[in-house]
Amino acid sequence: MSPVIFIGHGSPINAIENNEFTKGWKEISSSFPKPDAILSISAHWVTNGTKVLISEHPETIHDFYGFPKSLYDIEYKANGSPNFAEKTIKLLEDTATRNDEWGLDHGTWSVLHIMYPKADIPVYQLSIDKYASPQEIFEIGKKLKSLREENVLIMGSGNIVHNLGMLDFNENGGFEWAIDFDDYIKEKIEKRDFASIINYKRLGEIAKFSIPTTEHFNPLLYVLGASNMDESVKIYNNTCMAGSLSMTSYVFS
Ligand code: ZN
Repeated sequence: MSPVIFIGHGSPINAIENNEFTKGWKEISSSFPKPDAILSISAHWVTNGTKVLISEHPETIHDFYGFPKSLYDIEYKANGSPNFAEKTIKLLEDTATRNDEWGLDHGTWSVLHIMYPKADIPVYQLSIDKYASPQEIFEIGKKLKSLREENVLIMGSGNIVHNLGMLDFNENGGFEWAIDFDDYIKEKIEKRDFASIINYKRLGEIAKFSIPTTEHFNPLLYVLGASNMDESVKIYNNTCMAGSLSMTSYVFS
């Protein structure tokens, strides 16, 4: 059975760097056998309802501004997986719709370019339903779980703490509230207390600062839904940067 993973992706620049985070991502991909396909749930594809990318040859989307040209030059040429995409739509009891207009956005390829640089594994994406509640997202994750038995790697790509408005590049680690929230999520994951994660709003201010908008956090909820209570969890890149960004990543296997 394939693991299910959450990657804290941070800046797209990681795709062309060799840093502590990319080192962690390489460790993650070398810690388990190669999957047959990758289903990515990226913070950067938020839609009305759930969509599944069915394209045979998804294009590389450069959905960011003001970065070096070499980042725009990257084409991640992995094939899509229409076959697993159709299976995924079935698992969601036909509540998901087919999409062939999106491609692989940077939440997907900036990470996979490091984890699987050969781009020789088919990749497809599932969008985040912007109207789904945390509980509903968790339930969608549960429905995806059986894909793991077919050696599909489910990857959520976002950030547990993601507040761009408060970024401070003079800050080496995280602000106190960012570290507190990241630690809270980590502790609840270690205890498999997912209800407390789904109800993160109860934490009040530190949750509001950490999740000013939900798209970077939600991929974690799909991943938790697709995990099993009795599997082990490994934590990578357990750190905050620039004050208000957490890079913490999880592997359930
Ligand atoms: Zn992002």
